[in-house]
Amino acid sequence: MNTPQNTQVNMFSEMKDKALFEQVKSYAFAYADEAADRNIFPTKDALQGLSGFVEKLPDKGTEADKVLEMLHRLGSPATVNQIGGRYYGFVNGSSVPAGLAAKWLADFWDQNAALEVMSPLVSQLETVVEAWLRELLHLPERTVAGFVSGTTMAIFCALSAARYRILQRQGWDLKAKGMYGAPRIRIVAGKQTHSSVLRSIVSLGFGKDNIEWVEVDEQGRILPDEIPPLDDKTILLLQAGEVNSGAFDPFEEICTKAKESGAWIHVDGAFGLWAGAVDAFQDLTQGMALANSWSVDAHKTLNTPYDCGIVLCEDKEALISSLQASGAYLVYGEKRDGMLYTPSMSRRSRIIELWAVIKYLGKAGIEEMILGLHERSRQFAEELQAQGFQVLNEVVFNQVIVACDSDTLTEETLKNVQDLRECWCGGSQWFGRMVIRISVCSWATTAEDVSRSVASFVKARKLAQVTI
Ligand SMILES: *Cc1c(COP(=O)(O)O)cnc(C)c1O
Repeated sequence: MNTPQNTQVNMFSEMKDKALFEQVKSYAFAYADEAADRNIFPTKDALQGLSGFVEKLPDKGTEADKVLEMLHRLGSPATVNQIGGRYYGFVNGSSVPAGLAAKWLADFWDQNAALEVMSPLVSQLETVVEAWLRELLHLPERTVAGFVSGTTMAIFCALSAARYRILQRQGWDLKAKGMYGAPRIRIVAGKQTHSSVLRSIVSLGFGKDNIEWVEVDEQGRILPDEIPPLDDKTILLLQAGEVNSGAFDPFEEICTKAKESGAWIHVDGAFGLWAGAVDAFQDLTQGMALANSWSVDAHKTLNTPYDCGIVLCEDKEALISSLQASGAYLVYGEKRDGMLYTPSMSRRSRIIELWAVIKYLGKAGIEEMILGLHERSRQFAEELQAQGFQVLNEVVFNQVIVACDSDTLTEETLKNVQDLRECWCGGSQWFGRMVIRISVCSWATTAEDVSRSVASFVKARKLAQVTI
């Protein structure tokens, strides 16, 4: 019988004899060993197997080893194989082994990252990494960082700081009065702005209909001459890495002028901000440091495990003030209290794996890894073109936009690529055309993976030509 008393006794013995963790370790290692050759998207059988999870809320418990065995048996084959090197969907990175291992250790520590007094370790690592990021990305010395779940949250924090500062300059006490009757804030954004930015625009109460949309060029970059006159009541949204083409807005030209107007400039660089860490990409990021805030994911280009985004803001007071209601019971430390820089209170200690990845790679290793992603994406583009596919973008970073001779052929080819499961890519629309998007975002992608994937594209198109 599982009386509470027995459950506690069981848990103590599970913690003591570690068999559960050995069991999981063997599953994880077997998974990792198969990843390079396994199908990328789960098979139909594996997906059907997920129905094995459907059951009524269990009355009684299940032995721990059986719980884990079930998870492994049904779950493992139904995972999307992200770590194998041939996943090119969305912009999804893999995990650098040192970061993954650090996360395992951090899982045992189970630190709450809210306050220094809850975890001096987390406070210290956040302080260290904040300074490293400023240096790595060449951001102003006063820039602070908040460690959040992803770029969507980072954008939310940045735009709430912008809102706070713009209203404060006009004598409006946002924290007390809220948005009711507040002076109007203008939002200026390129037509290819990422959908996650729109989420913040909606949730912060700016309203989608109030966005002043700016025309973009054929790569999705904002056209500087099309930007309306800016002022100190405006938020200007720019991109380092358009989600399809990987293109960068021409920051230097735009930011110098925008800065003079007093507008708040935000740069969304979910994957592209990391170009700032690479000397060879300085022409793409020149002028980016003139912005007021930046959003970036470590779980994309930097290949940390998931749930690792960062908001960077050169206006510490605005960021902190915009996110705090403050409570009397909180014990603020002399050192960094991470919750001040995010909308959360309790938080996972995601800084541990982020610190580990940066420490492991160093500046040189980060540069090498990112250049590797770029090289493989260029290889992808070249090999596809040699096979008669059209590449529609300039491959400036890690994204490749591909099309066949007709929309129908592109669509069918993509479907077949996905069915073949040799690699995985998603589709998109690019200036009215149906396209296949390739994002090389995993450290584990090799030149051979690229060639294998191109062969799968060719096979997929052949199959499509037979059916249409
Ligand atoms: C992925 C992405 C986002 C959203 O990031 P999440 O980590 O998924 O919240 C925002 N902007 C761009 C350009 C992206 O590629």
